Amino acid sequence: MNLSPIRTHHHSPFPALIRIDALGAVDATGWACSPCSVLVDLSADVGTVLAVGTPEQVAAHPAAKSPELVCLRRDRAVLIPGLVNAHTHLDLTSVGPQPHDPSRGFVDWVEMVRRSRPQEEADIALAVRRGIELSLAGGVVAIGDIAGAPGGRLNPAAWRAARDSGLFGISFLEFFAIGHGEQRALDMLDRMIPELAIEARACRDGGPGFEVGLQPHAPNTVARSAYRRAIEHTETLAGGGQPILSTHLAETSEERQFVAHGTGPQREMLERFGLWSEAILNDVGQSNHPVEHLSEVLAQARFLVAHVNDASDAAIQTLARTRTCVAYCPRASAYFAAERSFGPHRYRDMLRAGVPVALGTDSIINLPAGSERISTLDEMRMLFERDGLDPLTALAMGTTHGAVALGLAPELFQFISGPMAGILAIEVESPDSVGCPDATGLMQSVLRSRQRPELLFGGKKCGETGIARSVGTNRA
Ligand SMILES: [Zn+2]
Repeated sequence: MNLSPIRTHHHSPFPALIRIDALGAVDATGWACSPCSVLVDLSADVGTVLAVGTPEQVAAHPAAKSPELVCLRRDRAVLIPGLVNAHTHLDLTSVGPQPHDPSRGFVDWVEMVRRSRPQEEADIALAVRRGIELSLAGGVVAIGDIAGAPGGRLNPAAWRAARDSGLFGISFLEFFAIGHGEQRALDMLDRMIPELAIEARACRDGGPGFEVGLQPHAPNTVARSAYRRAIEHTETLAGGGQPILSTHLAETSEERQFVAHGTGPQREMLERFGLWSEAILNDVGQSNHPVEHLSEVLAQARFLVAHVNDASDAAIQTLARTRTCVAYCPRASAYFAAERSFGPHRYRDMLRAGVPVALGTDSIINLPAGSERISTLDEMRMLFERDGLDPLTALAMGTTHGAVALGLAPELFQFISGPMAGILAIEVESPDSVGCPDATGLMQSVLRSRQRPELLFGGKKCGETGIARSVGTNRA
């Protein structure tokens, strides 16, 4: 790639070239440097690292002498790559954080969401844009977003809003297809997917972007036959690229009961909606664990499955064998008290088995009241504090594993020369690792810090999206 001369933004108030000087930098490969400088060309479609290393090394790069260079001093901060949020529902941002009493059950909560979620396209777009702002405030530059289906209809409004943000990721369009509702849902997919595939092709430009995929909602609302159809449709949407699907899986005890026995609150909900049909018992009710129930489906395509709070040894083996990625949402699992039903989440057993476990926040509904960001940094900090999770494993779950789950190159989330998805700076309290480039120590200081992350750049056309705004105002 020819990176010089540096192109300039004649009409942009944003810098085309920045140099960040920080206390240190660390990425999930275990690479670290302290003190650290990074030289980034922001005039490219995706911010491109020209040089990274000690301040002396970076000063030696020819572009470091450019009159256009804007220097950002972050002497008390550690730099990490932009974060990935592998599972969220940005279209629920308008609902805001809500209290929940787990003893009232999952179905009660689902009814609340059904009543309060935005229904109109304009309101959905507004909620997603607010969700993007809160994601950027949390240093998130790539998102696995679930585009909900108000009224049961596949809805691309959230994908369009996410696409306009310049962030990376996949918008998984959600649908339900079970019992008396299955055929209607499959007909809808047949009708809508070809047009969406054309729209997806038209907005691809060769680089990473915001793709569209499908999310069969969960095994208690989607028949296996409909999962198989979703795989075919996702291949059409991917247009020769890597098809990736998402689904909620092994999330609740209600789901486990429904899949194993065809009984319980999930069945009652289908009955209430007039969707229950005795034919569903040909699909569920064979005493299978939800992961076993879907194992053949998971083997047929790349899946990113959310939660897996309920994980047997056999389920973990199946996830590994089928190369399934898991999006674990620690604060959501705690909010729903999943541990009471299933014990502590087994993400570390999954990692040991070779399952890429990424982090997700789930929707803002399950985040603490007053949350000013939607960030997997907070999930990393929670696991570090609660479980004593190794800091670099936490960073991998928040960056490179999420990248793999969303079909993005992990290199976009590493400090190496070339395109980078984003960089954030986090002030740390006791900078005891200065001059001692120990990756674990640097990352530990990031996780111990209570400071909010500052996104220095990220996403596509990073000099023009909101992401470089702070950079623009810091021009010396
Ligand atoms: Zn979810």
